[in-house]
Amino acid sequence: MKHPKVSDCVKVFDSLWPPALAESWDSVGLAVGDPDAEVRSILLALDPMDAVIAEAVVLEADLVFNHHPLMLKPVKSVNAATLKGGAVHTLISNGIAQFNAHTNADSARGGVSDVLIALLGITDALPLAPHTPDQETESGTLPTGIGRVGDLPRPTPVRDIARILAEKLPRTTTGVRIAGDPAATVTRVAVCGGAGDSLFDEVRASGAEVYITADLRHHPATEACDTANRGDGRPQLIDVSHWASETVWLDSAARELEAEFAERGFTVALQRSAINTDPWVERY
Ligand SMILES: [Zn+2]
Repeated sequence: MKHPKVSDCVKVFDSLWPPALAESWDSVGLAVGDPDAEVRSILLALDPMDAVIAEAVVLEADLVFNHHPLMLKPVKSVNAATLKGGAVHTLISNGIAQFNAHTNADSARGGVSDVLIALLGITDALPLAPHTPDQETESGTLPTGIGRVGDLPRPTPVRDIARILAEKLPRTTTGVRIAGDPAATVTRVAVCGGAGDSLFDEVRASGAEVYITADLRHHPATEACDTANRGDGRPQLIDVSHWASETVWLDSAARELEAEFAERGFTVALQRSAINTDPWVERY
């Protein structure tokens, strides 16, 4: 067994979460690092926040694996006095690579929304927005794409679904909130890990009776309620913490990585970050 290089790690990541599945506006892949450098340990965290990078330095990790990009918007400089430049300098001066799988990890099977909807016992969900509408899938595999929709084993009140999510997701300051009718009994569930307020049309088209996502702002939420009330009353809304909705995926990502590195004959230590990157810390 040998340690992988950064380039070997990228091949493993890309095999699980193909970059071709990423949205066109996204930034995924290796942002910092020397492809020839050896990797003995990888730190997994949702966000490449300064505290996570500092943790990687202390743990002497060789690569930080994130869901969210370090540089989603293009930067014109990596001057260490700038926000992104400072992070890049810390990473490079400590010999740490940084990689992220974002919307490609949302879209892939076993990805962020699959893990989220599986908390409700739904394991055969279909994408809300298929990656390509006429994509050919290998026999026996489910299609890829953003968000998931599937059916609960039995009709369930929206407030019971919210309670299950509150119990199964990590505890957060912002909690789990319902818009619409908490007493409505629903079967068809749509989810989108992270901010999903761009998918209301797909949610309505899917016939979902409740939509679970994060970062729902006032206007999209009130307009969705009015649209529902003027129509067939669907969907009710459940808003969860962005961090919580996605961080649950990291455990399953670590398991998939462990198997894939072993399959390729590599030995590498995988560690989940101890840093909670949910920005909200108190509520009154
Ligand atoms: Zn996100």
